Amino acid sequence: MSSSLWPAGPRRVLVVGIDGVRLDLLGQLATPALDQVAAAGFLAPVEVDEATPTMSGPCWATIVTGVTVAKHGVFGNHLGGNRLDVFPDFTTRLARTHRRRTFAVGGWDPLFLAREGGPLFAAPGRLAYIGPLEDTPEAWEVCDERATAEAVTVLTGDDDPQASFVYLGAVDETAHFLGCGEEYRRSIETADARLGRLLAAVRSRPGYAEEEWTVIVVTDHGHLDQGGHGGRSTLERTAWVAACGPGLVPGAPVQPVRHVDVAAHVYQALEIVPDPHWTLDGRPFTPATAPVPHPAGA
Ligand SMILES: [Zn+2]
Repeated sequence: MSSSLWPAGPRRVLVVGIDGVRLDLLGQLATPALDQVAAAGFLAPVEVDEATPTMSGPCWATIVTGVTVAKHGVFGNHLGGNRLDVFPDFTTRLARTHRRRTFAVGGWDPLFLAREGGPLFAAPGRLAYIGPLEDTPEAWEVCDERATAEAVTVLTGDDDPQASFVYLGAVDETAHFLGCGEEYRRSIETADARLGRLLAAVRSRPGYAEEEWTVIVVTDHGHLDQGGHGGRSTLERTAWVAACGPGLVPGAPVQPVRHVDVAAHVYQALEIVPDPHWTLDGRPFTPATAPVPHPAGA
């Protein structure tokens, strides 16, 4: 059988999902890698919409499918009853429909395994599940470290994925165990160092000068001071997205950024026009200098 993969072209996308990072604390922390992405593009708040519980399951499902809970049907951290077969994540859709090489890695079971109603990432071209040995902040740091190492290997190797998703979970676990204190802040800085290694891996690619990379960094929800989420408080429902890449200029997007926009932007970054039958609810990020449309007839 000959390979029927689509020729790669210059476009590539890396999405890094860091679970449970509070926007209000970022300004007090050393996050040089995230700052690089934001300086080349933007870092914008995202409000988890009214219909979506501020839980990881539904928020990540919205982020990677580009449709809201009304369509993907993930309402909690048990993903059962979902409609992900109709509204797949972008790594699965790109692999199945567009014959692109895709990759997803991380350690939270329902995202990667047929457990708890998962997986969210049904069939990327390459999938790596690296789970924690126990549910503790320390074990999750080990897990994130190994997921980062695996991602660096894949991003610099022969697989050459055109769209990748890297999940980091230690920050959220730390908040649940210890609240949003010193350990939580250090965990965010550690996650940023891992993001830095992923960015360095991308830049080290032999073909990097000819490639056009989009990088999106995103969190799913916030946390109460004592740790915990699921409610509608400002701290819980405030998430954020940072992104840079072709078509994005430095500065705040013209339109507010939503979780559904992430997958829509991934498709645009790969120059794929979504089929209307996908009924995406998201739209690509609107760059800072995009002209504001005039009202009809004006
Ligand atoms: Zn959580």
